[in-house]
Amino acid sequence: MNNQRIVLASRPAAEPEAGNFRLESVALPTLQDGQVLVRHHFLSLDPYMRGRMNDGKNYAQPQPLDAVMIGGTVGEIVESRHPGFAAGDKVVGMGGWQQFSIVDGAAPGAIRKVDTTHVALSAYLGAVGMPGVTAWFGLTQIIGAKAGETVVVSAASGAVGSAVGQLAKARGCRVVGIAGGPDKCAYTVDELGFDACLDYKALSDNQALSQALKDAAPGGVDGYFENVGGRILDVVMAQMADFGRIAFCGMISGYNGEPIPMANPALILRSRLKLQGFIVSEHMALWPQALQELGAMVASGKLKYRESVADGLAAAPEAFLGLLKGRNFGKQIVKIA
Ligand code: NDP
Repeated sequence: MNNQRIVLASRPAAEPEAGNFRLESVALPTLQDGQVLVRHHFLSLDPYMRGRMNDGKNYAQPQPLDAVMIGGTVGEIVESRHPGFAAGDKVVGMGGWQQFSIVDGAAPGAIRKVDTTHVALSAYLGAVGMPGVTAWFGLTQIIGAKAGETVVVSAASGAVGSAVGQLAKARGCRVVGIAGGPDKCAYTVDELGFDACLDYKALSDNQALSQALKDAAPGGVDGYFENVGGRILDVVMAQMADFGRIAFCGMISGYNGEPIPMANPALILRSRLKLQGFIVSEHMALWPQALQELGAMVASGKLKYRESVADGLAAAPEAFLGLLKGRNFGKQIVKIA
C-alpha cells in the first residue's frame, strides 16, 4: 500500500510559499508487533508550523528538511498489532501531513482513543483539542478571568480565539473580540455570543481602533488574550485596567520575521500589569481537566466552533499559507480520507 505525504523541501526566507513543500508517495512498511496503522481522516493546520519551518532557535525543534511535516491528526485504526487498539478505533495523534501513520501503540501519549458519540472526530483537532486547551489554559491559568470582568481576545473568530471568548462568557465575563473583516466580527457576536467585536482592518488607524475599544470596554480591559501582537497589542495595552493580565499566546503578525516592537512598555508598570507567555504542550497535567470542560461544552452545544476544510492532502500547503494570511474562518483542517 502507498502513503502520500508532504515533506518540508526548503526553508522560507520570510513568507513561506507552496514550493517549500513537496508531495511524495512512498510504500508503507509492514506492520511490526506492537504497532498500529492509522488512516488519517483530518489533518490540523496550525500557526506554530511556521516557526518549525525555520532553522533558528525557537521553543520547539526545527522541522527537519525532507521529513514529513509535523501535524496533529485524527483518524481510524485500520490494522493493529497492539492489544490496546483494535481496527475501527478512532484516535487522535501527531501523525503529520500524510495519509497514514504507523505508531508504536505503547509510546506514551503517541495516540489517544477518542469518543465520537457526542463530539465530531474533527473537533478533537480544534475545540476539544490543542487549540481548545490553549484557550482554556490562557484564560483560566494566566488571565484568571472572573465574572464581571472584561476580556479581550484577538484573532477572535479563529480556533483559539473563538474558544477563549465562549469560555469567558461561560464565566460571566464581558467579551470583546478583535478580528479581520465584518463577517468574522458578525460571527463572533451573532453566533458565539460575544458582546462586541472590532474589525481591525476597517479600523485601520490606531486612534480609531482605540476609540472603538474604549466604547466596547468602558471600564478598561481586565484580561487580554493575545494572539497577534503589533499594533493590536499596543492599542489594547493602553486600555488595560489596573492589575490587568495579558496571556501571550501568539504573535502571528510577526511569524514571517516582521519586527513587532512594543510601543509603550511603561504601561506595564503604570497599570501594574501581569504579562505571561505560555506553551500549551508544557502543561500536559492540566489537559484532562481542560478537555473535560471543552468536551462537555461542545457536546451540549454551549461551545460552538467553525471549520475551514481543505479537500485532500495536496491542498494542505495552500491552506496553510492561507491560515497565516487570515483566509481561514475558524479552525483550519484538511480532509484526507
Ligand atoms: P486562527 O484560527 O486564529 O488563525 C490565525 C488567524 O490569525 C487568522 O485567521 C487571522 O485572523 C489572524 N492573523 C493572521 N495574520 C494576522 C496579522 N498580521 N494581524 C492580525 N491577525 C492576523 O489560528 P489559531 O487559533 O490556531 O491560533 C491563534 C494564535 O494562537 C496563533 O498566534 C498561534 O500561534 C497561537 N497558539 C499558541 C499556542 C501556545 O501554546 N502558545 C498553541 C496554539 C496556538 P483575522 O482574519 O481575524 O486577522
